[in-house]
Amino acid sequence: SKIRIYTLAKEVGVENHRMLEILDGLGVQYKSVSSTIEEDTVELIKQILAEEGTQVTGGQVEDVSPTVDAAEPGTGPTSAPATAAQPTAPAVTAPPEPAPGQMSSEGRPTPPAATATQVEERPAATATTELPHRAPVVTIMGHVDHGKTSLLDYIRKTKVAAKEAGGITQHVGAFEAQTSKGRIVFIDTPGHEAFTTIRARGANVADIAIIVIAADDSLMPQTREAIAHAQAAKVPMIVAINKIDLAQADPDRVKTDLTQLNLVPEEYGGDLVVVPVSARSGEGIEDLLEYIILTAEIEDLRADPKGEFAGVIIEGKVDKQAGVLATVMVQQGTLNLGDFLVVGEKYGKVKAMTDTNGGRIKSAGPSTPVQVLGFSEVPDSGEKVVAAKNEHAAREIVQARASDRRDVENARVRSRLTLEEMMGSLGSVRTVNLILRADTQGSVEAIQGILARKESDDVKINVMFAGIGAPSEADVLLASTAEATILCFSVTAAGGVKKIADSKGVDIKSYRIIYELIDEVDRLIKGTSEPVF
Ligand code: GDP
Repeated sequence: SKIRIYTLAKEVGVENHRMLEILDGLGVQYKSVSSTIEEDTVELIKQILAEEGTQVTGGQVEDVSPTVDAAEPGTGPTSAPATAAQPTAPAVTAPPEPAPGQMSSEGRPTPPAATATQVEERPAATATTELPHRAPVVTIMGHVDHGKTSLLDYIRKTKVAAKEAGGITQHVGAFEAQTSKGRIVFIDTPGHEAFTTIRARGANVADIAIIVIAADDSLMPQTREAIAHAQAAKVPMIVAINKIDLAQADPDRVKTDLTQLNLVPEEYGGDLVVVPVSARSGEGIEDLLEYIILTAEIEDLRADPKGEFAGVIIEGKVDKQAGVLATVMVQQGTLNLGDFLVVGEKYGKVKAMTDTNGGRIKSAGPSTPVQVLGFSEVPDSGEKVVAAKNEHAAREIVQARASDRRDVENARVRSRLTLEEMMGSLGSVRTVNLILRADTQGSVEAIQGILARKESDDVKINVMFAGIGAPSEADVLLASTAEATILCFSVTAAGGVKKIADSKGVDIKSYRIIYELIDEVDRLIKGTSEPVF
């Protein structure tokens, strides 16, 4: 019978990405690790693994991220050996033709050609595969009151190693959960505003987005916004259907509603992982954590702890006693006490560093959020952080940045290149990104229908998000990262939202007459389809 790729991987004890490599080597088509494969292919894979001598360990999901002592990654075991010591994956010498799944005349799958003597030493793995795994960074988004905060609280309560007695865990914008399968880092400012603010500055912090949907409420406007944001960021999603403890919970309805957004749950034959949970009773939360680890494995997240340091500001604040405190997510390399950090056109020295439990640490490796003391001003969340060897080097970076910025500003004044001109000089198919806001579901659908008909071979219209009601601040942030125009029909933006749009250079256009809206769409299409000289 058919079996899902990840189930098979678990069964035979290899990592998902390894399984995908084997399938690639065999030329087997699949959409994701949730795709099912034929029994014959399964047999073939088992044969290959048997010949490789891979031990069938029975579902050991390997996590080589530095989970043991996140507080001291510097002294911790270099997590690399686990990877390096893995039985070298053999050259998959199975012939690409005929494709597996195709039968030989006897009706049996073609056996792999590799024999013991043919199995050669695999060429040195590429640099990326040699890098150690890192823990996934997860963000939780969804509609208000669907249980984002409760879910985070439950996970924090049950999965964060308790601090010394009497210690109060401060809110620092992230926490680390220890699960039996490995470490997971949660961004604990729920909601897509935080997510989008960080993305708006060009940084990507989250590896996985959990979309929380209350089982008694199903999809709501902010659920669809959250989904749009995750999709725009190309971050894999896991849906947590929350509040399943309630009598009126209707998880099936949520799944059906998701299907209408073209998000098809696995059990309906799609790729979307949907996990029923209760933040109240804790039911399903272990499963959710397992799916996070599974998704992380599929994403094959790696970073070099010995590489150049790079990080992102999660949040910053002023503490009355300590001064400026900033939470930095280490993305690659290792941050050490005494390092000089540059954020934008400012620098500071790491005078003290604490982990998310408030414990003092001296160094922090990839996927570790740390609270850093030493900035002179509060950095903004989403700002990128780099390190410099000493104060002199830090100052040089800052000066170079300032002069670059002046050059760019001058150049802009001189040439006033419009977006249209830039787009016009680019490749063939252009995309008009739009965010659509209207007064009723009927108008939203009608306008979407019209837009779909305006598409041509040269111009693609991408409605990133369509919703009922006035455009929100989140819409503006989404529009600013995606260079989208916000089109409103019979709704107008609030003053505050307009202000933000102005400051970010986002166009919000409101219409009460549908033909005028269509004219605007035509102009946008023309603007991007004909180079302006
Ligand atoms: P948020 O706005 O998405 O952060 O939602 P909250 O976490 O604040 O939850 C909103 C309300 O739903 C609160 O009253 C919670 O106690 C309640 N709630 C959250 N999760 C559950 C759950 O799993 N079951 C039940 N019965 N109530 C829940």
